[in-house]
Amino acid sequence: MTSYGAERVATFTESVIRDMTRLARAHDAVNLAQGFPDFPAPDEVKEAAVAAIRADVNQYPITWGAPDFRQAIAASYSARGWADIDPEREITVMCGSTEAMAAAFLALIDPGSEVVLFEPFYENYGPDARLAGSVVRTVALNPPDWTFDPDALRAAIGGRTRAIVVNTPHNPTGKVFAGEELELIASLCIEHDLLAFTDEIYEQIVYDGATHHFLAQLPGMAERTVTISALSKTYSVTGWRVGWAIATPGLGGPIRKVHDFLTVAAPAPLQAAGVVALGLPASFYRQLRAEYQERRDRLCDLLERAGFTVSRPAGAYYVIAGISDHLARHGLVDDRAFAQWLVEEIGVAGVPGSSFYARPELGAEQLRFAFPKRLPTLDEAGRRLARLAPRE
Ligand code: GLN
Repeated sequence: MTSYGAERVATFTESVIRDMTRLARAHDAVNLAQGFPDFPAPDEVKEAAVAAIRADVNQYPITWGAPDFRQAIAASYSARGWADIDPEREITVMCGSTEAMAAAFLALIDPGSEVVLFEPFYENYGPDARLAGSVVRTVALNPPDWTFDPDALRAAIGGRTRAIVVNTPHNPTGKVFAGEELELIASLCIEHDLLAFTDEIYEQIVYDGATHHFLAQLPGMAERTVTISALSKTYSVTGWRVGWAIATPGLGGPIRKVHDFLTVAAPAPLQAAGVVALGLPASFYRQLRAEYQERRDRLCDLLERAGFTVSRPAGAYYVIAGISDHLARHGLVDDRAFAQWLVEEIGVAGVPGSSFYARPELGAEQLRFAFPKRLPTLDEAGRRLARLAPRE
């Protein structure tokens, strides 16, 4: 087939995550690949969306976001100690954090610039960088606790570096960046005049009392950080595509231009429902964390019983499982072969580790499992995975 693709998409591959979801469907496998909940969104949030549609909140909202939704976003940060966000000038509502990150790249990164990613990294950032014509430099997060070597970060920064992407809590490792790590990143951003794009979509999902910190709140960082988050994960509405970017006008202005011409606006009735979502009481977030912690522990326990090595995530809703024993025992060459075999023979889908690395060989002995799933779903995965358990 002749490809008419432009040069900028020539090196794109299909999303491995969504590909695994398709494969899971074809084989009726338990889908622990793509990170989306299989349990319902909160009733009051769904009812608010229905009510908004009935009340005819069905036309274009203001491009930067419905004013009451932007106010609700600012209030939610204010309640968590970030008090001075101006909803008029500093918040842009987007079609999910995916659009927000792509728009940040397109609006703020010139072709030929370099961007630093912590590796492994969520698969979108590579194509985002390429859309902007920029080049990725990586800094390793080292298992089992996924810390990074400060000198490796310093070494990744050169004359062409323009931005560092910081995803915390982190997909796929579950790392929650520590305050001191963010301070180091901030000091290097200031020293080298770099921007920071943060992906904080899992900000409410942290375990064992871990604390999520906002990079933008560190001294000198407000004017060089684009803070990105969304309704998707916190309120279990990944299909709504409602997110936002917070940035001072110097950064947010160019992002607004991209958003204006790419998508015009995010869905109006779902922004109205977002006001209700962001207004949920503190007990909602406590329960969210408690339920996710139970799911995390359930999945990690059953993976360990099935012979995977697991580093328990501190946040987000994924776990990286080491598969080297299984590869050896079943004569499979790598993570991709294992992922395919696991769907077809065992009936459980995960994501091959290599899809989170610029150098795929680094992920060849890893598989990512997602656990935003009902306990019975995880238990069913556990029953199937038990067939892998090494015999005593
Ligand atoms: N963020 C989700 C994940 O990492 C969904 C991503 C996607 O559809 N590409 O699984």
